[in-house]
Amino acid sequence: METILRKHWHHLPEEEVLELLESDASSGLDILDVEERQDRFGPNRISERPERGPLLRFLLEFRQPLLLILLVAAVITAVLGEWIDALVIFGVVLVTAFIGFVQESRAKGAIDALARHMSVSATVLRAGQRSQVPAVELVPGDIVLLQSGDRVPADVRLLRARDLQIDESSLTGESVPAAKASTELEQDTVLADRLNMAYSSTLVTYGTATGAVVAIGDNTEIGRISDLLSSTKTLETPLTRRIAQFSRVLLYAILGLAGATFTVGVVRGEDWLDMFMAAVALAVGAIPEGLPAAVTITLAIGVGRMARRHSIIRNLPAVETLGSTTVICSDKTGTLTQNQMTVRRIEAGGETAALSGIGWSPEGELTRADRDVAEAPNVALEECLRAGLLCNDSALRATEDGGWRAQGDPTEVALIVAARKSGLVEHASGPVAERIDAIPFESEHQYMATLHPASAGSGHVAYLKGSPEAILRRCGRRLGADGTASDLDRSSVDRQVDEMAAGGLRVLAFARLELPPETSSIGHSDVADGLTFLGLQGMIDPPRAEATRAITECRAAGIGVKMITGDHAETAAAIARQLGLEGVDRDGSPVHVLTGKQLTDMPDAELIEAVDDTSVFARVAPEQKLRLVEALQHRGEVVAMTGDGVNDAPALRRADIGVAMGISGTEVSKEAADMVLTDDDFSSIAAAVEEGRGVFANLTKFITWTLPTNVGEGLVIMAAVFLGATLPILPVQILWVNMTTALLLGLMLAFEPKETDLMRRPPRDPGSPILSRALIGRILLVGVLLLIGAFGLFEWELSRGTSVDVARTAAVNVFVFGELLYLFNCRSLTHSMFAVGLFSNRWLWVGVATMIALQLAFTYVPVMNQIFHSAPIGISQWAAILGISLAIYLVVETEKAVRRRRRAGPELADGAPA
Ligand code: ADP
Ligand code: MG
Repeated sequence: METILRKHWHHLPEEEVLELLESDASSGLDILDVEERQDRFGPNRISERPERGPLLRFLLEFRQPLLLILLVAAVITAVLGEWIDALVIFGVVLVTAFIGFVQESRAKGAIDALARHMSVSATVLRAGQRSQVPAVELVPGDIVLLQSGDRVPADVRLLRARDLQIDESSLTGESVPAAKASTELEQDTVLADRLNMAYSSTLVTYGTATGAVVAIGDNTEIGRISDLLSSTKTLETPLTRRIAQFSRVLLYAILGLAGATFTVGVVRGEDWLDMFMAAVALAVGAIPEGLPAAVTITLAIGVGRMARRHSIIRNLPAVETLGSTTVICSDKTGTLTQNQMTVRRIEAGGETAALSGIGWSPEGELTRADRDVAEAPNVALEECLRAGLLCNDSALRATEDGGWRAQGDPTEVALIVAARKSGLVEHASGPVAERIDAIPFESEHQYMATLHPASAGSGHVAYLKGSPEAILRRCGRRLGADGTASDLDRSSVDRQVDEMAAGGLRVLAFARLELPPETSSIGHSDVADGLTFLGLQGMIDPPRAEATRAITECRAAGIGVKMITGDHAETAAAIARQLGLEGVDRDGSPVHVLTGKQLTDMPDAELIEAVDDTSVFARVAPEQKLRLVEALQHRGEVVAMTGDGVNDAPALRRADIGVAMGISGTEVSKEAADMVLTDDDFSSIAAAVEEGRGVFANLTKFITWTLPTNVGEGLVIMAAVFLGATLPILPVQILWVNMTTALLLGLMLAFEPKETDLMRRPPRDPGSPILSRALIGRILLVGVLLLIGAFGLFEWELSRGTSVDVARTAAVNVFVFGELLYLFNCRSLTHSMFAVGLFSNRWLWVGVATMIALQLAFTYVPVMNQIFHSAPIGISQWAAILGISLAIYLVVETEKAVRRRRRAGPELADGAPA
């Protein structure tokens, strides 16, 4: 079979294709064949091309201007014969590059891990059974079924296609969906015109098809060009770009200042070597080199945290946008509700029947309310249940441990369970179970139909199921309990529908149509009218408890929640009431619902008005979601919108955060989304928003913590040069301070737990600057305090006759311990650290302990003294250092307290408007 891997499959007739593949279109491969081929051909996975090697990535770290400046400084220092200093600077360069390398690798790892989360599954026919398997397990010869919304899992020669349209942009760059058919083609047909082939990684946007897998993994067309595709994912977001830009501007400003300092010093007659060292010290101290890396790593940590809370970020900027989300538009079914549907009530043949039992287990009783006729057969009831069973693409299987496993759409599984409870399954295994054709369910049509050969041999029968509106429109007659049809009284059925929906039941209607025996296929026009109504089935779908909680949380956080559903208005209203949506009273008073029909009739301007205070949108078609997103955005809202179907893709793309469903969603919707929920649960969106806010909060804390050191160090050097004083702190010492504190103290802020009031603040305005004016003020204040403390202590020590080395060591320690205590200030930008919980961030204490140990080594270990020109200091210096640090801590705490009292607190809270 190896030789067949490179055939012109599009040119071969169907029979030859199947013969070469040793496969069978009606039953597929059998399991032993599959296993044997899996061993032979390996997994259906495109092997990863090596990306940039680690060495190259390490060298690329030297793009950082700071490292280049340091390298130049190291060379000049070496030329001047200052060997130890040169080596220290060089060592720092290596360590800094290494840290950057490790952080970038970690961030990249976090992003790459997400790609692996997203496994694709495929529907195959094996040993005559249809089942879902992970796409990696496919082998050549497998018969796969494609449906709108699927990603084509391998290269497939189509055997049967129905209205098939495929978006091949990932392969050919052509974004208009290609219409596909199963004809035979000329050998030289180019890839884009091979209508009888579907290629791996393309997306089915419409219709259905069956085909045989002809190539997998690296042998697929996409596999052969995949090095062109190898992930170009960058770690860039609007925020990182803004920070990078800020850093660049700052860099030039600081280089300018360093040049000016050098010039001023030399002009004043200072030794030019000293002035060069001062300029280097200034550059090293004032450039916030750790900033861009810290932003990236904080974002990556946020992505990881979101993944743990069931939200996979596909698009890094979404992490930022999430924190600013003001409205979440959510599907009802499966997202706000449990999607564990159970049929509770059936109306058929003028009779009401109740079903007991819950979940997928088909144990339960069908109770017919009318005791008198309970023994009499009810043909309509039976047909209604049969329609639910046959007009169905899902399956219910008994598991080995005695449980039940559902496959497919929960709405359909509920119908199978209902049929089983009624004992209908045995009846249904006759010839009528065979299916000739089907119209699959699509949200926009709201119904599904199947064509079956009738048991009596007289003709065929089509069964339909769908929303009552879609079905009843097509019916003229109704089936009675005795099996005879009579005229349909729509208003009485509508009343039953409303009554069931008002109780929160999801109502489906059923109908049938007899067709002549020569009918071999059905389309929408064949079932447009003349149907016989069979009955209604109403199912419960309880709200998710977590969703109810998450909605309350969102309301406290100033985030609006809107329910968007294809379901009936009354059903939607009942569920909204149970969930406690905004503007919805739980006490049963009427809920303001807008339906899809009303939306269609509403001009844009009116819609923009109406979206604000409407929380429930029912019978909405996917295309209308786009209009809703646009109307909300027009109001200035930052919108998260969920979706699962093919037709949801435009709305998902348009929304600020498109959210796809990991379990029930189609591949097309996942492709269009910024974020995918692995558990389809609304509360995961709320969790992601919370994490998004947390990312911003931690980032703001880090920036607020790190900048004062740069300000302080820069000011100290400039002050010394301009005043003609000895440098209180040397370049190598500055390098030491910046590196150790950034690593051991600053980085620990990324592990800060989320503050408890994070979801009680209003959403962050995406246009607002990262640092509020108050925070800029605080940064300058602390910077100046560090200048006064370090410079003052240094001068005072000198004036007492202490050696320069000792005085400098004291100044260095002012910076380190000042930063150390200030770190505790920064744990919350508004509250005191005791409000945050003294030990709630254990990593912080590990960092602090290590920092103190290192600082003691810096001060007392002879080798360190030699390398860093430091010297042991005494009790009196320590007292001064700790006094200054504590003073800074207290000043900042006082400032925070004053702001809290002036109720200016929220202004500080990660950029929220005052
Ligand atoms: P939602 O999932 O938000 O309820 P859908 O667009 O999936 O919205 O469904 C709209 C309506 O179509 C449902 O209220 C139901 O009446 C009907 N429906 C849902 N699923 C199916 C199905 N598999 N077959 C037939 N009709 C369905
Ligand atoms: Mg649905």
